[in-house]
Amino acid sequence: MILKEVKSGTIDIESNGFMLMLQFNCNCDDVLPYCQAMCCKMRMGYNAMLTDEEAERLGHVDVVKDNSVFKFLPHKADYSCIHLENDRCKVHDQKPRMCMEEHCSPRGNMGDPTIKRRFGGWLLLPNNPASFERPVVQKFI
Ligand code: SF4
Ligand code: SF4
Repeated sequence: MILKEVKSGTIDIESNGFMLMLQFNCNCDDVLPYCQAMCCKMRMGYNAMLTDEEAERLGHVDVVKDNSVFKFLPHKADYSCIHLENDRCKVHDQKPRMCMEEHCSPRGNMGDPTIKRRFGGWLLLPNNPASFERPVVQKFI
């Protein structure tokens, strides 16, 4: 079901049979007032995994598992990425590969060839205390 039409596409609610998914099937720039860049927030544990070169450039926190070190983007106290400012990525042109290659919704940023994985959208179930304070859905009510 279409919630809203925007310049590059639509914002939709879809059901997968037992859960509702909020989907931003359009370009990110058109919907930041609605999605509030939630893909860069709600990082309960660690943020995107980094290559050594990205870690050097962007900062990192390390997790050691089975004698291997994995490097991740750090997050702030509110769980948002350290590079997010006013819902914009401060390192947009040099962001990590994981950020470049993923989009939250199945038909998001369709003109961007760097995106390799598109997900099913946002489950309409808050999973972090901060999301209770800023429920995305309220924007549509
Ligand atoms: S990937 Fe999704 S949540 Fe992230 S900025 Fe784009 S539309 Fe918003
Ligand atoms: S580096 Fe940029 S795109 Fe990646 S999580 Fe941080 S703010 Fe978001």
